[in-house]
Amino acid sequence: MKQKYIFVTGGVMSGIGKGVTTASILLILQSKGYKATAMKIDPYVNVDAGTMNPVEHGEIFVTDDGGECDQDIGNYERFSEKSLNKNNYLTTGKVYQSVINKERNLEYKGKCVEVVPHIPNETIARIKKAGKEADADFVLIEIGGTVGEYQNLLFLEAARMMHLKNPKDVLFVLVSYLPIPSTIGEMKTKPTQNANRILNEAGIQPDIIVGRSSHPIDETRKEKISTFCNIEPDDVISAPDLESIYEIPLLLDKEKTGEKILKKLELKKKKKDLSEWKNFITQMKNLKKKVRIAIVGKYFETGDFVLTDSYLSVIEAIKHASWNLNHKEEIVWLSAEKYEKDEKAVKELKQYDGIIIPGGFGTRGVEGKINVIKYCRKNNIPFLGLCLGMQLAVIEFARNVCKIKDASSSEFEKNCTHPIIDVMPDQKSILKRKSYGGTMRLGSYKCNIKPKTTSFKAYKRKEIDERHRHRFEVNNEYREDLEKKGLIISGVNPDHNLIEIVEIKKHPFFVGVQFHPEYKSRPLSPHPLFSEFIKKSIQR
Ligand code: GLN
Repeated sequence: MKQKYIFVTGGVMSGIGKGVTTASILLILQSKGYKATAMKIDPYVNVDAGTMNPVEHGEIFVTDDGGECDQDIGNYERFSEKSLNKNNYLTTGKVYQSVINKERNLEYKGKCVEVVPHIPNETIARIKKAGKEADADFVLIEIGGTVGEYQNLLFLEAARMMHLKNPKDVLFVLVSYLPIPSTIGEMKTKPTQNANRILNEAGIQPDIIVGRSSHPIDETRKEKISTFCNIEPDDVISAPDLESIYEIPLLLDKEKTGEKILKKLELKKKKKDLSEWKNFITQMKNLKKKVRIAIVGKYFETGDFVLTDSYLSVIEAIKHASWNLNHKEEIVWLSAEKYEKDEKAVKELKQYDGIIIPGGFGTRGVEGKINVIKYCRKNNIPFLGLCLGMQLAVIEFARNVCKIKDASSSEFEKNCTHPIIDVMPDQKSILKRKSYGGTMRLGSYKCNIKPKTTSFKAYKRKEIDERHRHRFEVNNEYREDLEKKGLIISGVNPDHNLIEIVEIKKHPFFVGVQFHPEYKSRPLSPHPLFSEFIKKSIQR
C-alpha cells in the first residue's frame, strides 16, 4: 500500500486537544488493522524542545534515540503503545538548519535557495522519511499552533503541495473550537467558519472538522458548519469535553471517524477492534478507592494559575499505575520552596500516601526538596525520586547519614567541597563550549539491576533500559562511603559504570532513579516502578 498522509491542523485557539485528537486517530487506525505513525511539526525556531523552560512549553518528552520533543509525542506513544523517534518531531529550526547545511555543502548545485519551495520541500522530505522508516500505511502530521498565525504558514504550504501532487493520498482534518458564551448560551460556529476560511486561503480544504466544545454539536450547527465550510454535515465530528483524554478514541470511534477516513482514502477496514481499550476505560470509570500522591516541584506556578503540563508524563504514569491497581489517583501539587524553612509544613507531609520528586534544573527549590526527602526517609513515606529527585535523595543521604555536611551538586554550587553529584569529563568540555542544545545524556541507556532489591522486585528482570535527560551524575568517588552507610545501589549502567538507581533498606519504598521511567508508562502497560510505588502508597 502507498503511504497515506493525514494533516491535522487547529482552528480558533490552542489547547483544545489537537494532539490528543491526533493520538486518538492514530489508535483508531491501528485498531482497524493499519500501521500508523504520527509526527508533530512545531512552528518555533528552536531546533528541538530541549532548550525551553517547561513553564514556557510544558514537558519535554524524550524518545529512545534521545530526541527532545513536544509532549504530544508522549501522547502518541501512550495511545498507540509504540515508541517513536527523532523522525517524529520537526520544528522550523530543524528544517532551516538542515536547508542551510545543505546550502553550505553545495547540495543545491548552485541554485538560489529560497524560502519557497526549499523550506516546504525539506519538510515534505522529512514527512516522507518518517513514514518510510516506520514502514507505516498512515502518517499523521499534526501542525502545531493555530491556523491564521504567521509561524506555521510554510508547513501549511508543504501540506498543500503534498496534496496537489497526490490528492488521493492526502487528507486534512481541522480540529476547531466552538465557544458557548455564557451571555448568549448558544454554541457559535463563526470562529470555526473563519478558521476554515483561513485554511482555504492557504489552498487547503478540510475533509473532516472535529468540533471541540463543552457540549456536543447538534444537527443545526452541523448543517451550518457544512454550508459555510464546504463539507458534508456527516464530516463534522462532535467532540465535547470528557472526563479523561483516554475516552476520546472511543468517542471518535463512535462518530465513525476511522470509517470516514478509510472511505475517503478508498481503503477497507481490516479486522481488529478497540475492545482492549474499551475494557480499560470501563475499569477506569468505575474506580471507587483513592490514592493520594503529592508531587513536589517548581514548574507549575504561572501567575494566578497552576499549570501541570510540565510534569505531564509523571501524572500519566501515576494514573496508569493507580488505575491498574483499582484506585483513582488524587494528585496534590506542592511547591518546593515552601519546605525550605517551614517545619510545620514538612510535618504535614504525613497526610500523603506517597511522594514524588520529579526532574528539574537549577537551584531554586532544591533545599525544600531535600527537607521533604529527609522526612520521607525517616517517616516511612513511600518516595520516588526522578532524575533530579534521585540526585537530591543521594545528597540528603550524604549530608544526614554519611555526615558529609556540605554535600551538594556542582550544578548548584560550581566549586562545592563535596560534589556528590557532578558532571562527567565529557560534559565539562561541552559546558565550556556553551554547547547546550541536545548535548545532555539523552535517550535510552542500559541498566543492570541488583537482585533482592526493591527495584528488582518491581522490574522482575536483571536488565532494563530507560530514557535519560540530564547532565549530572552521582559521583563514583563517594560510592564507597554511601554504600558503607547503607545506601543500596540497585541499578548501574554496565557500559559507563554510572549509578542509575538508589534505594534504602527497611523502608516500604524509597527509590531514586537517574532516568525518567515516566516516559515509558502506557495506559495498558503501566511502568513497573510506578506500579510498585503506588502499591506501597495504597498500603500506607
Ligand atoms: N538538573 C539535573 C541534571 O542535569 C537533573 C535533570 C533532570 O531532572 N532531568 O543532571
